[in-house]
Formats: sequence, C-alpha cells, structure tokens
Amino acid sequence: MCGIVGYAGKREALPILLSSLERVTYRGYDSYGVAVLNGQGIKSFKRVGAVDTERALLPFTGTVGIGHTRWATVGAVSERNAHPHFDCTGQVALVHNGDIDNYREIKERLAGLGHKFASETDSEVIAHLIESHIRGGAELVEAVETATKELEGSYAIVVLEQKTGRMAVARRESPVVIGLGDGETYVASDAPAILPYTHRMIYPEDGDVALVTSAGVDIWHSGARVGRHVRTIDWDASQIEKGGYEHFMLKEIFEQPHAVRDTIAVYREGLPSLPVERPDHVVFAACGTSLHAGMAGERLLAGNGRFAVSSVVASELTVVPFNRPAAGLAVVISQSGETADTIMGLKRLAESGFRTLAITNVRHSTLARLADGVIYTSAGPEVAVASTKTFTSQIALLAMLAARLMEGGERATALNAALRSLPNKVQQTLERSGELKAAGTGLAKFNHMFVIGKGQLLPVT
Ligand code: GLU
Repeated sequence: MCGIVGYAGKREALPILLSSLERVTYRGYDSYGVAVLNGQGIKSFKRVGAVDTERALLPFTGTVGIGHTRWATVGAVSERNAHPHFDCTGQVALVHNGDIDNYREIKERLAGLGHKFASETDSEVIAHLIESHIRGGAELVEAVETATKELEGSYAIVVLEQKTGRMAVARRESPVVIGLGDGETYVASDAPAILPYTHRMIYPEDGDVALVTSAGVDIWHSGARVGRHVRTIDWDASQIEKGGYEHFMLKEIFEQPHAVRDTIAVYREGLPSLPVERPDHVVFAACGTSLHAGMAGERLLAGNGRFAVSSVVASELTVVPFNRPAAGLAVVISQSGETADTIMGLKRLAESGFRTLAITNVRHSTLARLADGVIYTSAGPEVAVASTKTFTSQIALLAMLAARLMEGGERATALNAALRSLPNKVQQTLERSGELKAAGTGLAKFNHMFVIGKGQLLPVT
C-alpha cells in the first residue's frame, strides 16, 4: 500500500503535497517523491526514507502538483524507482498505487517502439503508455482511458500533464478520493490526508477517469461524461492529530470506549433491515485484524441451532468453498472498506449466491457501495496500522448482529445485556492503564512471546 496525493489550486502546491503525504505515511512507505508544475516545466524530487516537510521551504514553486509515498512491489527501493515517473518527453508525470500484472509485455512492446525507461517499476510503463496515446493525438482524458484499458491489475493514478497544467485521476481496485475546495482541488488515496482542507469529497468508481483542475472535477467513464455524488465526510480534522499522545496507536487505544459507545448508539433503535433476515448460512469474510473480528462473530453464532456459520480469509475466495446457499448471508468486514482482497471476496461470494452485508468504518467506501447492505462502525479515522478501536467496535457490531440473527433466544438476550454495559467496561479497563503499562513493560523484556487462547478468546490472540 502506498499513498498518492495531488493538488491544483491557488496556493503553493509543495507544502500542501508534503503535509498531505505525511498524513498517508501510516499506510507504510519506503521512499517518496513529488512533482510540481511551474513556468519552467515539471520539477520533481524523490528520496528514499522519511518524508521531509522541510523541503517545503525550498524555492520549488507552482500551484499544481502530485506526490507519492511508495511501498515497493516491483523494483528495488531506490530513488530511481520512487515515484513520480515520467514519459520520454518529461511532459507527463505519474504517481501510482497498485500493481500492473502485464507490465512486462507492455514495456517490451513500448521499448521496441523506442521508449526509454528510467526505472524498474511497473508504474513507469503507464506514463509511457499515456505518452504514446497523446502522441497519437489523444487529449489527456482519452489517453488515460485508452492506456488504462490496456492494463491488467490494480491502479489508482494521478497524472500531471505539463502542456495543459491539468491532472487526470483514474482507478481500478485501488482507492482514491478527490476533495473539492474553493478554487482548489485535492486528490488522495485516503480522505484523512486532505481532511484539513476540505470535507467535500468525490469517490471515483472503478474505470472512471477524472479531469482535475483548480476549478473542479469532470468525470468520464467509457468515453461518456458521468456524474458522481459529492459526499460530506463528517470526520473532524482534529481526529487525525495525535492530541498529546506519544503515537497514534496509544491514542486510538484510549479512544475505544468512545468508539464502542458511538458504534452502539447509532443502532440504538436496532440494526437496519438485513439483506437476509433468516439465513441458512452465515459466512464472515475478511483479512487481517478484521478476519479476527469475523472469527469472533463466527464464535458468537456457533451452535445456534438455526443456521450454519463459517469464517474465511477473503483472499482465499478465488474459489468459494461453500455450496450455493438458499438464503446465504456473507458478512464482509474491512476498516477502510478498500481492502482489495476483501472486495474481491465480496464479489465472489455474491456470484456464489450469497447476499452481502458490509461492516466498515468508512462511509461511501467501495465495500459499502458494493454490498447489498452496510452497517458502520463509528470509530472515527484509525491512523495506526495495528487496529485497535476499529476492532473493538467491529466486535460490538458483530455482537449486535449475532443478537439480531438469534432474536428471541436466550443467547440474544444475554448478548444485548452485555452490550449495554460494554462501553463502561472498556472504560474501566483503560482506567487501569498504569497496571497495563507495568505489565507491558515487563513483557517488553522478552524476545519471544506465545499468546494462547481458546474459544471466544482465540480470535484475539
Ligand atoms: N507497483 C508500484 C511500485 O512498485 C507501486 C507500489 C505502491 O503502491 O507503492 O512502484
């Protein structure tokens, strides 16, 4: 995973790009780079290592630009392989998040036509592909659309064209959001990166190409202009600051009582109607920590006497290991709602006859849009990569879901009672943070640790 950002507006682009990049560094990265357009062309710099916001002080002027934090997947970690990448003329700069599976064939073909490549990455071939279509007479949007149709794999790209000073944004299976300001437009892989500037966001769909200027956004899909909703993101920019804590993970651990309370409160009157109210099979599908939440959901429902329950790693769902259900409910879980394997899993389960219910923390995310139904955790932005408050909020929501699916039974009554006291119990546990810290400090001395769990507690080990 990496971060991409873009800006077109009236202010200096560089400081905005660098601070937006800093806000996506939690996604993990090994190198970074930016490109800014000014009277002398597109200027860029790339570095291996941490984002250096001091760069903002350099005389690197221009009000349109793009930036990237790279998590190398094709080609070594090096300045040369860091993004942005350029075409042969230096007139097209590009940042890319994702993986292009057929880049070797394209690269070979373009090299045969005389294109010169400066890096080992898959991403660079996209810049050259766009260049070849621009040379053929296409405008930026058309060139990007034709080029991306030739790509196999995943991408979210921002392309900066020197000639027109415009940016194009396109995506398939990698997240990207466009923020609307007043005479300023922002692009990022994740809303928190641009939340200090705007709350009005557009989420392009797979296959869209957006033309971005300071005046706003126009979006095309398969050559036709399309409208996409402008969503208002109600997260507060202060939620993505550390707020006095040493690091985000600690802050987010202490936000758990709030997150759990808010998550439960939204559904005080009950969960919305489910895609399947009386399932014969419930499957939990997710990856990473969300899978552990799904495993906890599976255990909450195990042996319920009404329907079968399973949990499965979403990335394994290239083949769905279940028979076609008569009334199957697939619960797909992802904090961001953008986990590529979970999105793929949702599609496979839907094709296999399951109706789908998404549990996610991000409104309007891809998972939320694709599922037949959605229920949200209200954990607020989770910046630390290790999930804390989202995980506990997911568990609370899964307990509500389990109670709903077992309605009328004793276990449902017990779950509802437990849910009422849950936020206070989380609070009381955190009030013992002194003891927890002492225990943690003791454990930190060891090089190896086995955490053993059984039954309900296995998913949290
Ligand atoms: N595949 C690209 C590369 O290795 C992009 C990786 C990323 O998403 O950071 O440069």
